[in-house]
Amino acid sequence: MSRVDHEPFIRLEGVKKVFNVAGKEFLAVQDVTFDVQEGELVSIVGPSGCGKSTILSILSELHPATAGTVQIGNEMSPFTPGKDVGMVFQKALLLKWRSILDNILLPAEILGLPLKESRERARDLLEMVGLGKFGDAFPQQLSGGMQQRASIARALVHDPRLILMDEPFGALDALTRERMNLELLRIWQESKKTILFVTHGIQEAVFLGSQVAVMSAGPARMAAHFDIELPEPRTLDVKTTEKFGEYTREIYHLLGMD
Ligand code: ADP
Ligand code: MG
Repeated sequence: MSRVDHEPFIRLEGVKKVFNVAGKEFLAVQDVTFDVQEGELVSIVGPSGCGKSTILSILSELHPATAGTVQIGNEMSPFTPGKDVGMVFQKALLLKWRSILDNILLPAEILGLPLKESRERARDLLEMVGLGKFGDAFPQQLSGGMQQRASIARALVHDPRLILMDEPFGALDALTRERMNLELLRIWQESKKTILFVTHGIQEAVFLGSQVAVMSAGPARMAAHFDIELPEPRTLDVKTTEKFGEYTREIYHLLGMD
């Protein structure tokens, strides 16, 4: 684990989450600790139901943590969850009666940002995600991968500091998913955002992340933490390297899958 001296952008320490279900306590997250530096792309990987989405919901302040510390930003640059977070989910969740451009504008409208500037930004983002010609199209005219690109542009429109992605490519076919992985790396490099990328795909986690937080089966605890030292910028060739194989093998092993 390499740790930079200055304060991290995000610090989770001993985070625990208990849900109350029909009067009974349910432990969803037991003990999660990790740091994220601003501008990093961090993968969180773990089996289904281990508490990954719960961690994202704590970070977006949808749910409070039951115990532990959650710190995002600092006094010098305070963090406002509503404004500073963009979310991408497994489903693109585009409104079918709105054009792609108007879908992308939605967070800006909700936050009451100036519409003219936001429209310009939305057009730039459409270009960035490779949908420059599709602003006037409607969601049902786009493929699954294209819809997911639109939802990434929507997550960026209000210029948030943090993007939370919850298994965003889980519903795509394998080839589209690989293509979207490359696209995401490009978008990350261009936008310089901090991204937390949740997946249960071990290879995807290693390929994308500058670090990978591995969660054990629920209730989530940190199983391990890797700084991924693979050549940058990452290309598909990386997946054939010995080092990539070592990281993925070790994570499979940690999750008891070998
Ligand atoms: P993952 O995203 O890793 O698949 P989740 O974070 O969605 O896992 O869920 C972790 C556990 O917490 C699951 O057992 C789930 O049923 C439970 N859980 C998640 N959200 C709630 C909630 N709002 N109320 C009660 N239980 C929940
Ligand atoms: Mg989930």
